[in-house]
Amino acid sequence: MERTLKLSNGVEMPRLGFGVFQIPEGPECERVVTEAIAAGYRLIDTASSYGNERSVGRAVKRAVETGLVRREELFITTKAFIEEMGEVKTREAFERSIDRLGLDRIDLYLVHMPLGDYHGAWRALEALYEAGRVRAIGVCNFGAARLMDLCFTSRIRPMVDQIECHPHYQRTAELEEIRSLGVVPQAWAPFAEGLKGTFTDPVLSRIAEKHGRTTAQVMLRWNLERGLSVIPKTVHAERMKENANVWDFALDDLDRADIAQLDTGAPSMLDVERPSEVKRLYD
Ligand code: NAP
Repeated sequence: MERTLKLSNGVEMPRLGFGVFQIPEGPECERVVTEAIAAGYRLIDTASSYGNERSVGRAVKRAVETGLVRREELFITTKAFIEEMGEVKTREAFERSIDRLGLDRIDLYLVHMPLGDYHGAWRALEALYEAGRVRAIGVCNFGAARLMDLCFTSRIRPMVDQIECHPHYQRTAELEEIRSLGVVPQAWAPFAEGLKGTFTDPVLSRIAEKHGRTTAQVMLRWNLERGLSVIPKTVHAERMKENANVWDFALDDLDRADIAQLDTGAPSMLDVERPSEVKRLYD
């Protein structure tokens, strides 16, 4: 399997990335990002709302200065949150993010939620892309219908849709719709954050044992084989290595059929179609 996915504009995005949600700004985040780069991760996924862009930027700068990696090998993603939606607000939010990250250019800039004036935000992203400030632009948490609406009303289509996707929420038909628009799906929370026992699930455990792997590796490999990019998060160096060690085994038809049975058809974490969830996000 190729280690990168080609976006619609020809940019190669690493299939395996590293997420830093819920890692507080400061030395801990800098350590985690440094160790992730050392473990071979080349895509780092942050967001203005995570509050740790400065730490990510510091770790990236140090990794480049110490020769651990070249900047052009890295793929840095960040996102504009709900209160940053709108043509002017998103443009300003981008300047704040790039300043905190201390970078000349961001590799992927995303609209974080399909809420607020995301059409205005999208026009800002189009302008940033055309000005060469970002190598690619995209969205998060856009279901296929909303993504289609944005595609049909914008000059430049999103290149990536980052969505909740794991064995409990497989979205198989929706992924086809997303791909039919030329958009690459990227799975956030590929372990469902361990909710509802994903790491100890009996089906995943049996498959893991069969291949001499861990349930974490099975979950990542499964999404990779479905053509998604994945961005697992861990603060532990050993788990970083474990989660990156997914290239030299393959699931078979039986494994896929068993994992298909785990689909609940509903999100485990974020349901942007639920009024209470929308209210929570605005609170
Ligand atoms: P996740 O990657 O599914 O799960 C992270 C959890 O799994 C952590 O508790 C971690 O614990 C544990 N873990 C990781 N590797 C493990 C292993 N090998 N064995 C056992 N436990 C393991 O959840 P996530 O962090 O929510 O999602 C990943 C990334 O997606 C985020 O960091 C963020 O970048 C992105 N994201 C995006 C959105 C969006 O709206 N766009 C929303 C949520 C997340 P330890 O850290 O203690 O190891």
